[in-house]
Amino acid sequence: MRRIDVGVIGCGTAGPAAALFLTRAGHRVTLYERVEAPRPVGAGIILQPTGQAVLARLGLADEVIARGARLDKLRVLRHEAGLLLELAYADVDPALFGVGLHRGVLFQALFRAVQREGIPLELGVSCDRLDRHRDKYVIIDERGVRRGAHDLIVLADGARSRLRDELGVLRRADPYPWGALWFVAKDPERVFSSELYQVVRGTRRMLGLLPTGLGPEEGRDDDHIAEVSLYWSLAAREVDAWRGNGFEAWKDEIRAMVPEAGFVLDAIRGPADVLFSAYHDVVMGPWHTRGIVALGDAAHAMSPQLGQGANLALWDAMVLADSLEAERGDVVRALDRYSRTRRDHLGYYQLVTRALTPFFQSDHDFLGTLRDLFMPVMNRVGFFNRAMVLGMCGTADGHPWKRLPMPKD
Ligand SMILES: Cc1cc2nc3c(=O)[nH]c(=O)nc-3n(C[C@H](O)[C@H](O)[C@H](O)COP(=O)(O)OP(=O)(O)OC[C@H]3O[C@@H](n4cnc5c(N)ncnc54)[C@H](O)[C@@H]3O)c2cc1C
Repeated sequence: MRRIDVGVIGCGTAGPAAALFLTRAGHRVTLYERVEAPRPVGAGIILQPTGQAVLARLGLADEVIARGARLDKLRVLRHEAGLLLELAYADVDPALFGVGLHRGVLFQALFRAVQREGIPLELGVSCDRLDRHRDKYVIIDERGVRRGAHDLIVLADGARSRLRDELGVLRRADPYPWGALWFVAKDPERVFSSELYQVVRGTRRMLGLLPTGLGPEEGRDDDHIAEVSLYWSLAAREVDAWRGNGFEAWKDEIRAMVPEAGFVLDAIRGPADVLFSAYHDVVMGPWHTRGIVALGDAAHAMSPQLGQGANLALWDAMVLADSLEAERGDVVRALDRYSRTRRDHLGYYQLVTRALTPFFQSDHDFLGTLRDLFMPVMNRVGFFNRAMVLGMCGTADGHPWKRLPMPKD
């Protein structure tokens, strides 16, 4: 196989995973990251069976899962109106489960593996432009410094990617009007465990409590105490008002919705403790152009409604390495193969996420009414329930009944 020189931009999830796969396949990889000293930051994510399978292939699943919280199901209640939806992994396969995880745990496992394997890391480098010169790409950073001469550029610079315009295949990169407030609290009694628990009221209120295991190792005494991530849906236009004078009323509202979450609220001292995370809707197709490919959120950011972001990013990285292997290091053919292989899987999750999100986060009250009428019924019909669980697992390849081929460890 032809060994190539790869520049990977972004050390979040997709970037380090791609760097590990490609280095192990024998390619020369340099990983660029704009943050000078990357740390385990963020809040809760869900590692689905797909993400777990990719990490198993990287040999990192055990350490990540050990610091996460096993999830057997998703349970959504309508405030004061009973169950809306209950999706149990075991309904499709008793061996399947999700893992609630602090994003930092996944980051730490990937970053440490990159360091262990001696992959060249250029930290504090904000990549600004690409210059193509005789079949090679040179990266130009914010200070105008030219770096590398790469046969392949892997763009993994996240939902706000600065470089994806260079591909010339971007169709849309819009911020969602809604996002979420996030807070991570210690949960020593494990009040929230084994399920992702949500309570909704119409389409304007959604509270989630995601057990996230032990969180990243920070060398502190409380590193062995379980955590829970609380999220609250909020329109981006309302964030300033919430920070200004909505804080106490917000706490009261949550206390009324889920009294058991009182200890989480007690740990929040003020609005500054709470992060607002905005979402993006990024659509491209294909995901490559000559010698450049976009992975992860840079390529297909979506609302986290189906809990797939990190899992899709990990899967992208694996398929890219497999495509290069299958095409024996021929970059042009490998990228064609990559976009072909990813089309159905990514297409399904983008479509379903875009269709479903307004039923949970929007100003369209009638969508909430429809959801409350039909979802509980669908949830009880075996065919629909199974389709929803398969979608939650991350394995739907174009439609729920076509399953992704799972990688071997
Ligand atoms: C700080 C942070 C916190 C997050 N917290 C959460 C969370 O709490 N819950 C959740 O569900 N998702 C969170 N996410 C998003 C989640 O990690 C991603 O959806 C998912 O893991 C896909 O990862 P990705 O590699 O595509 O992008 P990301 O994880 O966003 O990684 C992109 C990386 O690229 C780097 N980068 C960006 N621009 C440049 C540039 N020009 N040059 C060099 N490097 C660049 C960024 O610093 C970042 O490290 C967070 C992302 C970040 C960056």
